[in-house]
Amino acid sequence: MSHPAELDWPFFDDAHRDFKSRLDAWCTAHLAHTQHDESREAVDAECVRLVRLLGSGGWLRHAVAGSAYGAASDRIDTRQLCLLRETLAFHHGLSDFAFAMQGLGTGAISLFGTPEQKQRYLPRVASGQALAAFALSEPEAGSDVAAMQCSASASGDGHVLHGRKTWISNGGIADFYVVFARSGEAPGARGISAFIVDADTPGLTVEERIDVVAPHPLATLQFEHCRVDARQRIGEAGQGFKVAMATLDVFRTSVAAAALGFGRRALHEALARARSRQMFGQTLGDFQITQSKIAQMATLLDAATLLTYRAAWLRDQGQRITREAAMAKMTATENAQQIIDMAVQMHGGMGVRKGHIVESLYREIRALRIYEGATEVQQLIIGKDLLKA
Ligand SMILES: Cc1cc2nc3c(=O)[nH]c(=O)nc-3n(C[C@H](O)[C@H](O)[C@H](O)COP(=O)(O)OP(=O)(O)OC[C@H]3O[C@@H](n4cnc5c(N)ncnc54)[C@H](O)[C@@H]3O)c2cc1C
Repeated sequence: MSHPAELDWPFFDDAHRDFKSRLDAWCTAHLAHTQHDESREAVDAECVRLVRLLGSGGWLRHAVAGSAYGAASDRIDTRQLCLLRETLAFHHGLSDFAFAMQGLGTGAISLFGTPEQKQRYLPRVASGQALAAFALSEPEAGSDVAAMQCSASASGDGHVLHGRKTWISNGGIADFYVVFARSGEAPGARGISAFIVDADTPGLTVEERIDVVAPHPLATLQFEHCRVDARQRIGEAGQGFKVAMATLDVFRTSVAAAALGFGRRALHEALARARSRQMFGQTLGDFQITQSKIAQMATLLDAATLLTYRAAWLRDQGQRITREAAMAKMTATENAQQIIDMAVQMHGGMGVRKGHIVESLYREIRALRIYEGATEVQQLIIGKDLLKA
């Protein structure tokens, strides 16, 4: 089967090449970019539909870990995860979001959950029957995660949660949330624990829905006397920060992969436009200025692709990849933003017309430079890591 040239790079084996071919064929058959209704209700319904579709296609099995719990393997194959996100983002941005949240929302359970927790949540997520969410950020604690205020006070055989979480993807449509709260074993990052909170738990309410440039389900959650059983705590008490960071180490690389998908689609559209658009008696692509732009776009994309799959490959070799994942996330999201901007420019007025693919890519990419650690946070991670070595 044919596959893109970058699949011949040494990061991949035949199983990855075969996986990518099957995935592309499935995406072509099931997903297409169309101008969809961006009302909140329509986006919510579309996300639920996409999760069920991805589940029935078998793709969500790659977002979780544990063969005994419906996963494709016992350990998430980071290269497959990245190929999935890149390919979904290339074909259809919202389907990448729907896929990504199933993984991010259960990453803590896959990595640190008890067998009971895994049995209760992972099979339903892998089949698309349940939607997951990851609730870390707060109004006063975004980049500075350790400043979180949401509290988890020990009470009887469990904890009682108080506080707010904001910018929570899938907020309002998730079946459960993995929530990080201050349990007080120690000050700062060492006094945080992680809990699974079912959406119908008394005391948990959706305070506000949030609208953003590229519509996704997003909400602020309120916890008031919200009681969670001890069986719902993930990992040791006070280890929640470690749980969150280990989850982000896996999924940060996949944010880079999503950016590759958006950037690759922009380059694909720009090439088609350069070949077909007639002006001044020749095509847009006949101008050297256009060729220069295309060269820049392709080089930015290849550089980002190399860093992304290096990080994914290293993790699959069992190595710690905090620095490499940060380099990949920073470079891929920043480069994709530039590539997409150049593609918009090459499309002229069509580039900013609502519903055109490059217009939606332009909106989709922006948040990736902010969430799961803004570019400046990635710079700090890389710089500190190098200085301590
Ligand atoms: C679309 C979207 C989806 C999201 N989904 C989720 C989710 O599912 N779960 C969740 O928990 N959170 C989610 N978030 C929240 C996201 O992780 C935060 O927005 C992010 O961590 C930044 O936090 P903040 O918005 O509070 O910005 P701030 O922390 O106020 O940072 C603002 C800016 O300051 C700059 N900055 C940060 N640190 C430094 C520094 N050390 N030095 C210099 N400059 C710096 C960066 O440019 C940053 O963008 C989402 C956000 C968005 C936009």
